[in-house]
Amino acid sequence: MSTYERLFSTVLYPAYESGLRRRKTLAYLAQYEAQQWLSPEALRKLQTERLRALLEHCQTQVPYWRRRFRELGFSWQDLRGPEDLAHLPVTGKDEIRAHYDEMIAENWRGRTTRKTTGGSTGQPFSFEYTRESYERRMAVMLRGYGWAGAGFGVKRLDLWGTDLGLPSWSQRTKAKLFDAVLRRRVLSSFAMRRDNLHEYAAEIESYKPQVIVGYTSPLETLAEWILHNGPLKWRPASVITAAEMLSERQRATIEQAFGAPVFHTYGCREFMLIGAECEQHRGYHASDDHLVVEVADDAGRAVESGVGNVVITDLHNWGMPFLRYANGDLAQAGSAHERCTCGRGLRLFGPVEGRRLDVLRTPDGRILPGEFFPHLMKELASVDRFQVRQKQLDRFEILVVPHGEFTAADEAFLREHVGRVAGSMVQLELRLVDDIPLTASGKRRVTVSELPESVS
Ligand SMILES: [Zn+2]
Repeated sequence: MSTYERLFSTVLYPAYESGLRRRKTLAYLAQYEAQQWLSPEALRKLQTERLRALLEHCQTQVPYWRRRFRELGFSWQDLRGPEDLAHLPVTGKDEIRAHYDEMIAENWRGRTTRKTTGGSTGQPFSFEYTRESYERRMAVMLRGYGWAGAGFGVKRLDLWGTDLGLPSWSQRTKAKLFDAVLRRRVLSSFAMRRDNLHEYAAEIESYKPQVIVGYTSPLETLAEWILHNGPLKWRPASVITAAEMLSERQRATIEQAFGAPVFHTYGCREFMLIGAECEQHRGYHASDDHLVVEVADDAGRAVESGVGNVVITDLHNWGMPFLRYANGDLAQAGSAHERCTCGRGLRLFGPVEGRRLDVLRTPDGRILPGEFFPHLMKELASVDRFQVRQKQLDRFEILVVPHGEFTAADEAFLREHVGRVAGSMVQLELRLVDDIPLTASGKRRVTVSELPESVS
């Protein structure tokens, strides 16, 4: 299967399917829309009930958690509120990899879908989820995007990475149909170059989207171009940024260029949307009726104020329950008592730090968002960890910690796909290594640009 086919079958087609048979997603959306206005106390009660049901399921159906609960002397009946989750250890990707089959619920075996992600920390990662979980995720995402004016059926233009592989005619047609179903036009951020930014601007002017959605860094690049070349004739009502951090400077640049407010969102591949800004822009509203979002220190204790690890419990993925899963990001803890003036009862947290993907640049003016590489690397089962370092404008070094044998075909695949987006002027050095050092602050980084600031 080509990369595009895989992308289509794992991401695009399921989304398309639910676009056509979206009754359940829309029913969940109505539920979540209503729940957001509950008081914090009522939401806490709802969260506790769902959490108890999930933990009972884990204890009776999930071999890994049954064993861990026994070892810890913990039972689901012990949980009185979300804070009692602190009795359970924080888990991470390593535990899930090491105990994969044991983490799948016995009564869900053979009925879950596997998803593989590139991993924002440079290590591809797989997990299982159920159809219900998927439909609920879509609903939660639609609710959060709705706060930014991008509810279902709103005309939107997406600036995402979509450019892997060369789709066949029939696939292109299906993808177009999918976008038409969702009233969405997608432009590839991976094809963005300094000399074709005017085409992106022209596309916005002719398509006239109500909302523009994209990775932060390509939107910033386009915004800078607009500020330099004069304003667009079309103004969207809002811009949604995702998948990367957003600095205050980037927010100001994008808002000024598009003449519209920016709504930042926070999510990860394992859960999709975790939090999003409402029209008050006071941090992210956590999806408390769908996930338990904790900000915890390394010992797993709640952080009252300041920065801690993002730790998530997914209330609705009963196929492979994620309990207290640290996704590798850091966030500011929200004040427990602060209530947003918008009236929603969903708690506030954020902003999120720690996902550091440098933008890479090429001699012919192309701009590669760091998100490109996790996207690509997840296609290779032989890659355990990786890092891409830009040494010079025309020199990339790719470090790979192999998992099993890294074959000549794997290397050819990497060279072909990186070459396609980076251009032929870039020299690619591939090194197989035993380990990739963490940064001074203990983080993993997927892309590192060693270019002086003036070049970028
Ligand atoms: Zn709010």
